[in-house]
Amino acid sequence: MKKIASSAALSGRVERIAQRDRPDNWKKPPRRIEKSECITCDTCLRSCPAEFGAIFDRGLDVVIIPELCSGCPACVLECPVDCIYVDEDWTPTDDAMWNHIELTAKGA
Ligand code: SF4
Ligand code: SF4
Repeated sequence: MKKIASSAALSGRVERIAQRDRPDNWKKPPRRIEKSECITCDTCLRSCPAEFGAIFDRGLDVVIIPELCSGCPACVLECPVDCIYVDEDWTPTDDAMWNHIELTAKGA
């Protein structure tokens, strides 16, 4: 039973990636990482639930993809320097990043 729910949740992420959009029924705003404060430890990345998979380490920085972030906010509770903030005014993710996300999603 749990496995079915989990695979349905994961397919939701695949759908969000295909649509490159954030579900209207997510009432909480997404989160964002303040780059100037982040120590790129990847703790948040490991704490983001797999069904969201919203955090990516791009090498020079760690980012949250707002369209994939439910605002749950598991990452906020784990960040050692408290640099993850509510992002009410989020901007859409650019195509280059979406292309990267699609590649990593296929490889998963
Ligand atoms: S708020 Fe939740 S869904 Fe969004 S990046 Fe953090 S852990 Fe992931
Ligand atoms: S847990 Fe905090 S400091 Fe570590 S990578 Fe994530 S946002 Fe940056």
